[in-house]
Amino acid sequence: GEWTSTLDFPSVSPSVRDFLRGGPKKLLIHGRWVPSKSERTFSTLDPATGEPLATLYEADEADVDEAVRSARKALEGSWSRISPAERGRLLWKLADLIEENAEELCQLESLDTGKPVTETSVADIPLTVEQFRYFAGWATKLTGDVLPVSFPGSYLAYTRREPVGVVGAIVPWNFPLLIASWKLAPALACGNTVVLKPSEITPLTAIRLGELIQEAGFPPGVVNIVPGYGPRAGSALVRHPDVDKITFTGSNRVGKEIVRAAGDDFKRVTLELGGKSPNIVFPDADLDAVAGGVMMSIFFNQGEVCSAGSRMYVHRDVYEDVLEAVVEKAKTIRQGPGVDWMTQMGPLVSRQHMERVLGYIRRGLDEGAKLLTGGEKGEGQGYFVMPTVMEAKDEMTIAREEIFGPVLAVMPFEELSDVVKRANATRYGLAAGVWTRDLKKGIQVAHALRAGTVWVNGYNLMDPTSPWGGFKESGWGREKGKEALEHFTEVKSIWLNIQ
Ligand code: NAD
Repeated sequence: GEWTSTLDFPSVSPSVRDFLRGGPKKLLIHGRWVPSKSERTFSTLDPATGEPLATLYEADEADVDEAVRSARKALEGSWSRISPAERGRLLWKLADLIEENAEELCQLESLDTGKPVTETSVADIPLTVEQFRYFAGWATKLTGDVLPVSFPGSYLAYTRREPVGVVGAIVPWNFPLLIASWKLAPALACGNTVVLKPSEITPLTAIRLGELIQEAGFPPGVVNIVPGYGPRAGSALVRHPDVDKITFTGSNRVGKEIVRAAGDDFKRVTLELGGKSPNIVFPDADLDAVAGGVMMSIFFNQGEVCSAGSRMYVHRDVYEDVLEAVVEKAKTIRQGPGVDWMTQMGPLVSRQHMERVLGYIRRGLDEGAKLLTGGEKGEGQGYFVMPTVMEAKDEMTIAREEIFGPVLAVMPFEELSDVVKRANATRYGLAAGVWTRDLKKGIQVAHALRAGTVWVNGYNLMDPTSPWGGFKESGWGREKGKEALEHFTEVKSIWLNIQ
């Protein structure tokens, strides 16, 4: 195209331009915006052009240490004196502020990640708002039990749910604001304080969120924000002896490192990791719905979705028809910068990630997969990869490893029991899709699949009430839903001798 800077797009508001063009973004520590101690800075790039978008101060060990102290002070001080009802009100107020600033946040998220505003405006930002509202309600509903103990004597024994303490939240680049909210909302509702480490690739909405957190009136230190690199800031947070819990979303490689490091002092850890989620299409499915659903499952957010439906098993009887429909639709997807309202699929998040995804496509071809559409870098100077559909075999790398890009591996099947076995033959277990008009079969298959979320006749449906997390190597624990409360509280038993 003619544009050189996506900031020139008329859809970008002046306030967003101002936000980006100001001096280096600071760290939020104990309610104040401060430069990092080292005063080192780093830049975040616009994936549609490769040009720098904004600079930020880079947090390292020293800054993380100060952020953790601040969180500890707030935990034991001001935050502990705030009533559950007031915690709920603050969370609700934050949700309102995010909603009021939705347009700006949509643009910022699109500029930083590359994803289309048509998606941030219906998914990322509204889901973030609803996440805070849902957990605002839980703040006043954390109850314990009175226990019918049989121990000889007479006792009042009961349980209480207390905050875990200082929570280190480490988030990835694919849904920066939304995933931050998956951690912050339950953590704060349960009375914890937080140090948030956004991804170094997409730290901007976290900064804006910090401003809104202050505007909402949270006491200083309840949320601290430390942008920086994983191996420095992230790792410092994981190793810090005064952090009680790490909630991490990201790759399995880093997840493993975190588990090892957190094992030193038995920190609580929850992990949301990768996936290689299957879509299973039975011959009795509504095939129009399938084509649309499969598009959304693998090309939504450029395929940079942990739950992306990256393997598709189609029954032999409808195999050719479904393939044709999917390939036709994939060819019509319009790629461009995220902030352009005409864009249906944006660039991938970084050059390195684009190269990785293109590498997987080449590997697929080398191993004998058949390219049906896409397969190449998209047009323009940005990190575009064309929507790609390949016929594969279960044992090929593209059907086994998480690609985290717009690459669909398709395979035929004949028998139900066989396809369930193949769908489950992965070390991952995050999500799955089943397509059939026979709801009995849909339910049977949903129950047989080893995955944290199964959608029948839909895909990537998200709601704060629906627990999110993985079976097997896709993670530990659940975020969202009431299940999240288990992971952001410690249960205490109390015995009163009333003899
Ligand atoms: P990543 O693991 O590279 O980075 C995630 C975060 O961890 C970043 O903030 C990074 O700075 C930090 N980090 C890196 N090294 C660290 C270390 N040694 N110690 C502490 N922190 C460190 O992941 P990514 O590339 O940002 O995201 C992609 C991955 O995230 C994919 O595998 C995807 O499946 C997964 N993901 C999972 C979910 C889910 O809900 N299950 C959601 C989104 C993304």
